[in-house]
Amino acid sequence: MAKGNLFVVTAPSGAGKTTLVAALLAADSHVQLSVSFTTRQPRAGEVDGKDYHFVERAEFERMIAAGELLEFAEVYGNYYGTSQVWINQVMENGRDILLEIDWQGAQQVRRLFPAAIGIFILPPCIDTLENRLRGRGKDSEEVIARRMAVAKEEVNHVDEFDFVIVNEHIDDAVRDIVAVVRAQRLTLVRQSSRHTALISSLKG
Ligand code: 5GP
Repeated sequence: MAKGNLFVVTAPSGAGKTTLVAALLAADSHVQLSVSFTTRQPRAGEVDGKDYHFVERAEFERMIAAGELLEFAEVYGNYYGTSQVWINQVMENGRDILLEIDWQGAQQVRRLFPAAIGIFILPPCIDTLENRLRGRGKDSEEVIARRMAVAKEEVNHVDEFDFVIVNEHIDDAVRDIVAVVRAQRLTLVRQSSRHTALISSLKG
């Protein structure tokens, strides 16, 4: 893997992942978020190119065939994927990259980059998860049950990750994710390549 770290953040929907990642990006300017491609429709307030690159299914399938995606998965009947080109560019520059993707994408990334650091976000309890998935109460029980099943399926993969953050109090959870990212920059491997001259000048 190149100079920067590659972080993969995964969570069941309703765990507060997007808020947590936004706070991390605000607190740490060395982390670059990958903007995924998706075939789902934009939600109110979402901006093309910022939240996602919104594309048609045919265009997404062309990208798969052309090998332009590092990983992709189908979630809730829509495609989601990470741009290979973008990742290569940022990695060359030595910046840290963060991918906010599901467990299927996380597995593909881990196979390609074994040094990728996996962070899993959990809600504090099942009731919180269910309340968040119920949203504004406009969805049928069937839709909610389906969302719960997908969320639980995501949690089935928690063991595949390196770090687990329980998002009970957002301020604590933000401190946790910031600490994980900072700690990964201080490992011997990273520091020895960053401070080669310093270390050799200080050795006896
Ligand atoms: P949403 O539609 O709520 O924004 O996202 C639905 C799910 O798709 C979330 O679990 C999210 O992490 C996942 N997801 C978003 N972007 C990607 C991506 O590029 N690749 C994969 N594999 N999953 C993604």
